[in-house]
Amino acid sequence: MPDAMTATSSIFEFDNSYARDLPGFYVTWEGAKVPAPELVLFNRALAEELGLEADALETPKGAEIFAGVRLPNGASPLAQVYAGHQFGGFSPQLGDGRALLLGEVVDRHGKRRDIQLKGSGPTPFSRGGDGKAVIGPVLREYVLGEAMHALGVPTTRALAAVSTGETIYRDGPKPGAVLTRVAASHLRVGTFQYFAARGETDKVRQLADYAITRHDPDLAGAEDRYLHLFRRVIERQAALVARWVLVGFVHGVMNTDNTAISGETIDYGPCAFIDAYDPAAVFSSIDHGGRYAFGRQPAIMQWNLARLAEALLALIEPEDLDKAVELASAELGRFPDLYKTHWLDGMRAKLGLQTETGDDQALFEDLLSVMHQQGADYTLCFRRLSDAATGSPEPLRDLFVDPTAIDPWLARWNRRRAQEGLPAEQVKTAMDGANPLYIPRNHKVEEALEAAENGDFAPVRALLQVLASPFREQPGQEAYADPAPDSFGPYRTFCGT
Ligand code: AMP
Ligand code: MG
Repeated sequence: MPDAMTATSSIFEFDNSYARDLPGFYVTWEGAKVPAPELVLFNRALAEELGLEADALETPKGAEIFAGVRLPNGASPLAQVYAGHQFGGFSPQLGDGRALLLGEVVDRHGKRRDIQLKGSGPTPFSRGGDGKAVIGPVLREYVLGEAMHALGVPTTRALAAVSTGETIYRDGPKPGAVLTRVAASHLRVGTFQYFAARGETDKVRQLADYAITRHDPDLAGAEDRYLHLFRRVIERQAALVARWVLVGFVHGVMNTDNTAISGETIDYGPCAFIDAYDPAAVFSSIDHGGRYAFGRQPAIMQWNLARLAEALLALIEPEDLDKAVELASAELGRFPDLYKTHWLDGMRAKLGLQTETGDDQALFEDLLSVMHQQGADYTLCFRRLSDAATGSPEPLRDLFVDPTAIDPWLARWNRRRAQEGLPAEQVKTAMDGANPLYIPRNHKVEEALEAAENGDFAPVRALLQVLASPFREQPGQEAYADPAPDSFGPYRTFCGT
């Protein structure tokens, strides 16, 4: 074990259920020493939501806490064990190789939240890795996660980012950094897989009961609670992936260890937002086969949920495996329809439609198909449709290589809206609340991360500020709404290590 860390007074009101209730599911561990922790970003609003003493954290002492070198009172730092299917292949032991769960707090709304450090040094699960993180990927997770939150997508959040004063070697020397992440929990599909693969059914049961207490307390004690837990995870993930697709988000590394039981987006690595609409869009440099391409995300999520089903089978019907398979398969089979319902609802909102008709799906798919053929920017297309609703179609038409290509579809949509008969201004207001103007544009993210690597944090702060209000037009911030210039070239992202 590394040296004991120095205790500090109660800034966090920790109540650590994972440490208390699940011995055998983690290793007690501590952060590595680092030379010069400095607070780079601090999320004051989130600190307040968590009931933390924000003033005490926005200090050099706070930087030490967020770097993992000073242990706040009541913390019980630990590394969680889990397994996972990575790009389809099973790794029986992954675990927190560069992360520490400091503990849990109950927030102002009564919700239990994990406080986790990411990049705090090696653990018994590091598998040869250095356990560290560097400033670029740390800020990327911070920015993307906060942007997703502002877009209304369930996600882990960022509480703080610190630089450590250490030089870490990746593709060259990089400044070391640690992210403090807040999550509804860090239970993953892979956590269940770890114990199921070892045949430790009692532990799978213990974990499932813990997950129920934490995420679905109304199921506690019910006889068929494990099947119901599975159903809830399916429902949450169907809703989540629909939200991803509706905002144009590509997770990039949808391994089962990066699929949360809570239904939050977790582990922002090589993720990115699409610009031109393209179901085949892949940004991750390691996703050679396009397994995690933009349009494959719903199918992959269903595949991941099948892995969760396998891990839960022995609980679902302990005496009758065939019956368990039948029950779990029936639940899993609902995923495509659940997903589709969320997606259709989301598209109706994006297009300012209030009624459902049998033509909706064709109407939506035809729009996407013209966008695809014409290389139109996904985000701006939806945003500018609201201007088309109020009589200014030109800005929208300009997004298409051949502006006339969208005219037949526009005529259809106008007829449909005429049937609904809502006032155009009301439609525009509703649409602007559903279609963001600002997303984390890849070139803007890169620009901000590059500046940060060189010690200039002003661009990342400016970016965060714009992304905090994605639906409200912000005068003077037009550059953040623009797609990447052609000179930016094809975008590649790298795993967040
Ligand atoms: P990820 O692809 O970030 O979800 O990580 C997959 C696994 O690799 C997890 O078990 C991580 O803890 C581990 N890992 C990633 N980067 C490092 C690192 N630099 N040192 C040790 N373990 C790591
Ligand atoms: Mg991960």
